Amino acid sequence: MEWKAQPIIRRKSRQIKVGNVLVGGDAPISVQSMTSTDTMDVEATVAQIKALESAGADIVRVTVPTLAAVEAFEQIVKSVEVPIVSDIHFDYRIAIECAKKGAAALRINPGNIGSHEKIEAVCQAAKDHGLPIRVGVNAGSLDKDLVEKYGAPCPDAMVDAALRAAETLDQHNFSDYAFSVKASELNLCVEAYEKLAGKTDAPLHLGITEAGGLTGGTVLSSIGISWLLKQGIGDTLRVSLAADPVEEIKVGWAILKSMHLRSRGVDIVACPTCGRRGIDVVNTVATLEKRLSDVKGTLKIAVMGCVVNGPGEALHSDIAVCGGQKGRSLIYEDGVLMGKISNEEAIDIIEKRVRERLKNN
Ligand code: SF4
Repeated sequence: MEWKAQPIIRRKSRQIKVGNVLVGGDAPISVQSMTSTDTMDVEATVAQIKALESAGADIVRVTVPTLAAVEAFEQIVKSVEVPIVSDIHFDYRIAIECAKKGAAALRINPGNIGSHEKIEAVCQAAKDHGLPIRVGVNAGSLDKDLVEKYGAPCPDAMVDAALRAAETLDQHNFSDYAFSVKASELNLCVEAYEKLAGKTDAPLHLGITEAGGLTGGTVLSSIGISWLLKQGIGDTLRVSLAADPVEEIKVGWAILKSMHLRSRGVDIVACPTCGRRGIDVVNTVATLEKRLSDVKGTLKIAVMGCVVNGPGEALHSDIAVCGGQKGRSLIYEDGVLMGKISNEEAIDIIEKRVRERLKNN
């Protein structure tokens, strides 16, 4: 009997709505990123949001650092389709203004928003405009009293910070909130999410904060996020990278796809190549990734250097190319050998077949 991965049983969370995107419950785990442009530069920010959207972003967060930036925020929101979350620190009045100007959700950090009254005021604005709030706890900016109580940032302090903010929201019969409890230390972050998951049914936004550059940050985020997802924890995610935010979306999707939690676009399986290869695997994969980046339907492609493992991978792929001899490769569809093609034609032929097969998707 064919082996199949056990499906992940997701934690039961209540559902919120960020613009037209459902988060929590049985909604697909959404992929988020955050713009890295100056919010005052509306043109650049809109261009980046559109790039994120076409890479597969379900939700995009934009920082609104000052009251003066609210006007730019409003223009940005009006120029894009994807729901925009306004990211607020320090000044609760900005959150209130963003709620009026088209935000799909508000993200506040209770550690720097301040008093109970200020959180209460943000809650009222969210209520008035039907918006959810993400309570975004960060290990680096916990309330002073929590750091004093626990001696240093730790999972319990982060959970306390989240639940304390939630208490204020609950007191106002406001249940449209999600949590994140992020830290750059992997174990601290994962344990905080694990503990919080057992104490609330609010949706959880996953992320390892300040994870680092493209390689290190991808590794750290993939370990932390998949560790939690495997336990059924997590309703939406953001991979934080010191890199082009489009990479965050690509990595976020790659995590979900590899865990069979969501699918989108082509999946390319490729061998690492070695001296046996009969086709330039690296260039074939890179070119196909680029050319097929607009494809939304799902298909699995295998690009294999030679017949050692090629036919085996072809059996589990929709389309496969396997390097052969004398500049000619074997091409398979649905595990069936279709014939030989010259290596020069391989990329064009695969692209054509992918588009033909997905034409009606
Ligand atoms: Fe090397 Fe062939 Fe294996 Fe690729 S499939 S790594 S070319 S032996």
